[in-house]
Amino acid sequence: MFANIIVDITHEKLDKIFQYKVPSRMEGELSIGMEVWIPFGKGNRITKGYVTGFSEHSDYDVSKIKEIQEISKDGVAIEAKLIVLAAWMKEQYGGTMIQALKTVLPIKQKENAKVKRQVRLLLDKEAGEQRLAFYLEKNQRARARLLAALLDHPVLDYELVTKKLSITMSVIRALEEQKVIALESEQIYRNPVKGKTQQRKEITFTPEQKHAIDTFRQDYERQFYKTYLLYGVTGSGKTEVYMEMIQLVVSQGRQAIVLIPEIALTYQTVMRFYSCFGDRVSIMNSRMSAGERYDQMLRAKDGKVDVMIGPRSALFTPLPNLGLIVIDEEHENTYKSEQVPRYHARETAIQRASMEQASVVLGSATPSMEAMYRARQGNYTLLEMKNRSGMQKLAKVSIVDMREELKSGNRSILSRKLQEMMEERLKRKEQILLFLNRRGYAGFLSCRECGHVIKCPHCDVSLSLHRNGRLVCHYCGYEEPKASACPVCGSRHVGEFKAGTQQIEEMVKRRFPQARTLRMDMDTTRGKDGHEKILSAFADKEADILVGTQMIVKGHDFSDVTLVGILAADMSLYADDYRAGERTFQLLTQAVGRSGRGDIEGEAVIQTYSPEHYAVETAAAQDYETFYAEEIQYRKWMGYPPAENLLAVLASGKEEAILEIGCKYLKEFVTRFWGAGEIQIIGPASPGIGKINDVYRRVLYIKAKRYDTLVGIKNRLEQYIEVNSGFAKMRIQFD
Ligand code: ADP
Ligand code: ZN
Ligand code: ZN
Repeated sequence: MFANIIVDITHEKLDKIFQYKVPSRMEGELSIGMEVWIPFGKGNRITKGYVTGFSEHSDYDVSKIKEIQEISKDGVAIEAKLIVLAAWMKEQYGGTMIQALKTVLPIKQKENAKVKRQVRLLLDKEAGEQRLAFYLEKNQRARARLLAALLDHPVLDYELVTKKLSITMSVIRALEEQKVIALESEQIYRNPVKGKTQQRKEITFTPEQKHAIDTFRQDYERQFYKTYLLYGVTGSGKTEVYMEMIQLVVSQGRQAIVLIPEIALTYQTVMRFYSCFGDRVSIMNSRMSAGERYDQMLRAKDGKVDVMIGPRSALFTPLPNLGLIVIDEEHENTYKSEQVPRYHARETAIQRASMEQASVVLGSATPSMEAMYRARQGNYTLLEMKNRSGMQKLAKVSIVDMREELKSGNRSILSRKLQEMMEERLKRKEQILLFLNRRGYAGFLSCRECGHVIKCPHCDVSLSLHRNGRLVCHYCGYEEPKASACPVCGSRHVGEFKAGTQQIEEMVKRRFPQARTLRMDMDTTRGKDGHEKILSAFADKEADILVGTQMIVKGHDFSDVTLVGILAADMSLYADDYRAGERTFQLLTQAVGRSGRGDIEGEAVIQTYSPEHYAVETAAAQDYETFYAEEIQYRKWMGYPPAENLLAVLASGKEEAILEIGCKYLKEFVTRFWGAGEIQIIGPASPGIGKINDVYRRVLYIKAKRYDTLVGIKNRLEQYIEVNSGFAKMRIQFD
């Protein structure tokens, strides 16, 4: 039996997993994650390592494989579990072990948990006053000043003593020697939610909520730790369900992680968890300093946290006895890391949970194709909630065909219908959200008259307009010249869609001078609490209309919004990505879901050039099932995930010629070992932005029926790249 071991992580260069023999005396005793002592390197220095797995065979000369010396620590430390997770991530997603470890382990920062120092008076009042008289008599003014201050406040901050009172360290030391004061230090954690309280709302669960909770409870109590997909429409009460599940887990002495997209991590959400779990809740977000985040990790490790809430990176919280990982809005693309290792939080959470015997709950009103596909195949347990928890109905939706608007002479970005409806709401003092969908890449060409969008004939994704004036496919590299007329209807109104939130805000102000308008986008939300401020101003009814990008449609509950206008609904359909339809459906459904969350029924208007597209139609009908059926058909037909698997090999370098040759070799290498029956290789093509800062980029796509095939290809490519010096001038990443 052989153990795979990674060597102590402080050695940056040792980026491999090494094999060691497991001595028979350790068999049955050694397990994954354990810390061991091993002879390492030429001198056989005894070094610390961690077991990441076992195998019965070895690829190396067995006589040369060394033996594990000793088990250093029984049991598995929290860090060791995370290190094993890192090893898994390296294997799945590529990159180096160090990159994986840096992603997973809380890295100690220079500015770590603040050591707070304080000066404490050790004498009682009477003795203190005698002492003070003594100092004054001796004319020891600094000592007298400090003592006088301490007689008012027996404990003072060190900072205050040294800065405000101008007391030197030598004075403090002197009084310490005389046993008048003590200088104390205390490791303080910065708890970001401390001191905020609110009572949890009393509710009676709906039958659907009860069913979800009971299913989870029955499994959990029998120690069936599964992955659940909680598919519930907006407002069906998913958050309440998570909280109930977490309560069960916490009552058994275990902890939970709740992942929430950063953008939805608002005061509102945090308060709901806080009212349920008090200061046993901790939050992390990217606006916190590295030191603050490190503090939270320490608190968690020390058992002071039951529930950690945060974005993607909170997944790696070192909790002593993890019982549950919740991923809210599981379809959000922020759960995918764009840095090496390019992991997805969903898969990584499932892996972590299976290593630690914990459950996973994925929640969404518009589940990702991946999650629903797995659920349908029986890999995840599907929990459905089809009704809103309260009396509110889903919003009434109308689609406006913008081609018709143009034909009938309205060139405004607001359709007549939307303008009329806005007028009504303003009269009734109800609120309006105007959502500009510009998530996609703006480089596609479309016809204003017939709505036709120019696509790649091979990949069925939109062609992008490059600076050189040509239309290019970002998947396969296909190119054609820019068309000056629409190939379908011949119209000369072919161009890029250009409109920003700022222009829309100005236009709305001109059209509705009586209304108060707020805008929320990247520009207006800079600064620490930028978007929180705008959202709370709007929630407090300081404005009638909120104009914004996707930020405004994520997880906020505005009870007085009764109209949502969606401008350029089809914009995201033409992103140069096979997921464009899915993203569009999700965004539109979410946007529509923002309307009518209070007592009054809501309405929504979807303005589009592609009213007949299934993503637009099904979003308007809020019909996920039909959308899923259409979309999975397309994925199967084209061989895109989740029907099949896709590996992107991203190459970059300063010399374009070398990059071209490198990509050619990579492609040849793959086709030499894997046949057309197993894989399909496309490209190299220039990705979205072909060149940044003089660094050229190329991408190869490899499609395969089996996921393992792609991991195998990645592993072989990593070896190939390592031993061939020609690749030294390129950077290659896997996705
Ligand atoms: P989701 O996360 O699915 O959008 P939430 O959990 O945020 O839904 O619930 C929406 C609103 O309905 C919240 O204000 C919540 O407190 C409330 N709510 C949820 N479940 C119930 C229930 N069973 N009875 C009454 N109100 C509920
Ligand atoms: Zn046309
Ligand atoms: Zn193509």
